[in-house]
Amino acid sequence: MLDQCPECGYSLRGLPADHRCPECGLPYDAESEAFRLVNPKAIYVGMIGLAGGAIPMINMVFSLGAALTRRYLVFLIALAYVGLIGGVFVYLRMLMRSRPQVAVLPRGLFVRLKRLKPEWYSWSDISNVLLNRAFKKQAVTVLFKDGRPILDLVGFFHCADDAIRMVDNVRRRLRDTVVRPSDS
Ligand SMILES: [Zn+2]
Repeated sequence: MLDQCPECGYSLRGLPADHRCPECGLPYDAESEAFRLVNPKAIYVGMIGLAGGAIPMINMVFSLGAALTRRYLVFLIALAYVGLIGGVFVYLRMLMRSRPQVAVLPRGLFVRLKRLKPEWYSWSDISNVLLNRAFKKQAVTVLFKDGRPILDLVGFFHCADDAIRMVDNVRRRLRDTVVRPSDS
């Protein structure tokens, strides 16, 4: 059962189990389930190291002394570097606000991580889902019918039970899609 709309973040608490998001119209049912990115703040940790790189550059600006041209050059490079870090940070903030997650919904599999716009995979395009043992069983691999590359869902499951729950949920959907193709 969903407590928040995966698409727009609207709270779905207190609404019927089989309904549409009042805000964006996304259909969901009692079996719908979302798995949010575990510890999204970890993404920011890499930023600290990146930002630290600017310190020696700024240091150089002040230690170069009389060599004005070189000083300006290093200053410009440092400025560009800081600007780049700022840009990456703003992008990550936007990404985090978009609530990275995977969701099992009537329409298909909803995945939002690397891009701000979610990706949808229709149930009729998916051939199977497997528990991925390479990640302590905390990952799910999605296989497609048309031979496109497999999709590994990593970082969305707190424990193997979460991943197993998702695999079971998706397999139920796939079975239902086969039995009632007109429904999808
Ligand atoms: Zn919504």
